[in-house]
Amino acid sequence: MSALPGRIDSIPMRRVYLDHNATTPLDPRVLEAMLPALRQEHGNPSSIHGFGQRARAIVEDARAEVAALVAAHPTDVVFTGSGTEADNLAVRGVALAAREGRRKIVYAAFEHHAVVNTARALGREGFPVEAVKALPGGQVDLDDLAARVDDRTALVCLMLANNETGVVQPVAEAVALARRHGALVHCDAVQAAGKLPVDFAALGADLLALSAHKIYGPKGVGALVVRRGTKLEPLLRGGAQERNRRAGTENVAGLAGFGAAARLARCQLGADAARLAALRDDLEARLLAIPDAQVNGGAPRVANTTNVSFAGTDAESLLMALDLEGLAVSTGAACAAGAVEPSHVLRAMGLPMARVQASLRFSLGRDTTAEDVALAASVVARAVDRQRAAALARR
Ligand code: PLP
Repeated sequence: MSALPGRIDSIPMRRVYLDHNATTPLDPRVLEAMLPALRQEHGNPSSIHGFGQRARAIVEDARAEVAALVAAHPTDVVFTGSGTEADNLAVRGVALAAREGRRKIVYAAFEHHAVVNTARALGREGFPVEAVKALPGGQVDLDDLAARVDDRTALVCLMLANNETGVVQPVAEAVALARRHGALVHCDAVQAAGKLPVDFAALGADLLALSAHKIYGPKGVGALVVRRGTKLEPLLRGGAQERNRRAGTENVAGLAGFGAAARLARCQLGADAARLAALRDDLEARLLAIPDAQVNGGAPRVANTTNVSFAGTDAESLLMALDLEGLAVSTGAACAAGAVEPSHVLRAMGLPMARVQASLRFSLGRDTTAEDVALAASVVARAVDRQRAAALARR
């Protein structure tokens, strides 16, 4: 839906949505798959009667589709209420199940806050936790990782693709390193699924997080893929749902949507990625034609993402100016305790603060067109010019 008709002060405006890493629109085919579950399948999947069994069938079909997206076994899939919950379950679940003498959690400094803040909370609860540095190009520093993983390490957390830069991480190498010390590996694949082929077995990780709303499915639905035999303490206690790993009545319609979105992502992966790579490269070339613009993050990257800094600008005000012109992008800034915190991802890559605060993320999607890209680039060029001119005038 990158071209919604909109109006500000009665001027018709074309809107361009380049924030697909924040969330994707619901694919109409996903909505169609959800409607029967919302309209007529009100049964509880745990009930023995026919109503329950029909709801159970919807949940199990979705499980098979989500498993197929990442080449896992359906029984490995634990449905959760979000990607955030999947990350929390992985990190805290492993920590709480860890035995004495093997309690250390090692995570990449640029992980999503769902991992970083869970690890930090465990640190406050007495678990040893360590953050691993990034290289300037955005990949994890494998030497630093090797220096931190030891025989006391319970879990290594390394995401597959970063949400802010799109940089793809050397997860297989991290797995090999962790294995040498008997540590488990959690891989947050929320931003990789649907953009890259993800093969749970080939990757070698023990746990893998997914989220439906990043792949054109509904919000509030996620999954943690758990290798058989992995010791995991549940976060939610109650009924025996999800093989005792996540209590609570399943979100049947949400899961119908997740299953449909996973099937579409698997079937369209190659076509989506090739088209998006061409559009992203075009956008990047246009943005780099703006003086003093630089891309943050090197290869390999997922096809839809580019993170660009425009020296001498303030990304927060740029973002607001772009929004007024109908272009939706994002900064990696997070709001913590009422104050805007600059991107921890770009900071971890060693970028100077001025460059971090002048950086915008553009993330394209299934509905992005060549026209959107051209329009976005010209709107950004004008806004950057205006901001730089205003800064000069203030001097
Ligand atoms: N992990 C990554 C890499 C993400 O980008 C996100 C969402 O931005 C999450 C986890 C959290 O997923 P959810 O929004 O489903 O809680």
